[in-house]
Amino acid sequence: MPSEISRLDQAYVWRPYTSSEDHEKQTMVFVGAHGCKVQLEDGRELYDATGSWWTNNLGYAHPRLQNALIRQTQTMPHIALAGGTHRVASELAEELIATAPKGDARRLARVFYSDNGSTSVEVAMKMAVQYWAQNGQEKRIHFLALPGSYHGDTLGAMSVSAMDFSVCFTPLLFQTHRQKEIVDPAQWDAAFESLIEELHARKDELAGVIVEPIVQGAAGMRMYPESLLRRLRLACDETDTFLIADEVFTGVGRTGPLWACERAGVVPDLLCASKGLTGGNLPFAATLATDRIYEGFRGNMRRALLHGHTYTGNPLGAAVALETLRTLREDDVLEGIPEREVLLREAFEGVVRSEAGRRAGAQRARTCGMIAALDLGDGGYYSGRGWQVHEFALQKGLLLRPLGDTLYFVPPLNIEVSDLQAMLTLFEGAIADFAAHLAKEAATR
Ligand SMILES: *Cc1c(COP(=O)(O)O)cnc(C)c1O
Repeated sequence: MPSEISRLDQAYVWRPYTSSEDHEKQTMVFVGAHGCKVQLEDGRELYDATGSWWTNNLGYAHPRLQNALIRQTQTMPHIALAGGTHRVASELAEELIATAPKGDARRLARVFYSDNGSTSVEVAMKMAVQYWAQNGQEKRIHFLALPGSYHGDTLGAMSVSAMDFSVCFTPLLFQTHRQKEIVDPAQWDAAFESLIEELHARKDELAGVIVEPIVQGAAGMRMYPESLLRRLRLACDETDTFLIADEVFTGVGRTGPLWACERAGVVPDLLCASKGLTGGNLPFAATLATDRIYEGFRGNMRRALLHGHTYTGNPLGAAVALETLRTLREDDVLEGIPEREVLLREAFEGVVRSEAGRRAGAQRARTCGMIAALDLGDGGYYSGRGWQVHEFALQKGLLLRPLGDTLYFVPPLNIEVSDLQAMLTLFEGAIADFAAHLAKEAATR
């Protein structure tokens, strides 16, 4: 018997990435979340390896973030950031700039707020295009992106994302140059080589190059060498093109340092942050820009950036984002990552080496900070293998939600080591169950 919540969901809700037919299937009903665990209406409690679409970097229901939210609710839940300002938007901007990637060549100096990852990307692209338009290079309106890129679901963000996600919308999107899809990690060099060649060939018409630094999330937690990001930065300098770092997933500590760009010692011209920025508590985003870009908008009202959302700089989101950054700093959260990364790496590599892992097709174990992943073959995004392991994991009390045949962990950065170990043991068990299931299937065939 479906519960009342399920009944209402099935009658009225339209959930993301769910066909209307799939929507009629029984789904999990979440009733609570604490730390690295979620509670279901049927009484089950699950360890959550997915962090609610990669946002939960300090654990669910973190008391500091809750208190910051309550305080701000009582002071001023919302006020438009137009024709006025407020304390938390200002203090958060200072904190973001103070902790942004740093280098000699350029400085991220300004913060523009919006509501989600896609809009933070839209803002970055519009800043780039409008900058060139009003600074004498109006032909610079195009973007380059990497194969397998994912930058969001709005039309502009889709235009710089890989086509897998947007086939029927293709005619509506602006043209973005992208190389052929790559599968073999050894092809990263060639992908960057080709991107850089294109950058030199078309520099007069390019507004920017957009990348997910070091880790491509939605493409299946694909990781590329830091040296390639440095090479791209250099090529952007040589061609005077803006490098846009989409740190919506990789930012706020996910890869180890606060920003993945720091791993490569790279300072982008524009940086997008969202997902973990509020610790997964509120929809909120920031786009950071260099002094140079900001200065390009000096002049009368016609030269102002033509962008703004109703909830731009929402005080609740800003207060929780500020508290998230302060908590990361004051609780030395990032310092605890290397120890946890070793556990993730050893467990994922162990699965690939194990007999069960081999039978399950597990390969390409990889980690980067608090991200660990492996693939079950080469089935890609619509492969069913990952979902089979997801089912076995659920039975054991672990929530996985794969990306096709890619299985991954993105636990809270501050997860208790004992909890992480318990989750990894459940993961190993789920792989073993899947391997046993495959063996049984093969025997009856
Ligand atoms: C999730 C994601 C986005 C889009 O963020 P939304 O909040 O879902 O709009 C953009 N870029 C990257 C790298 C992401 O992982």
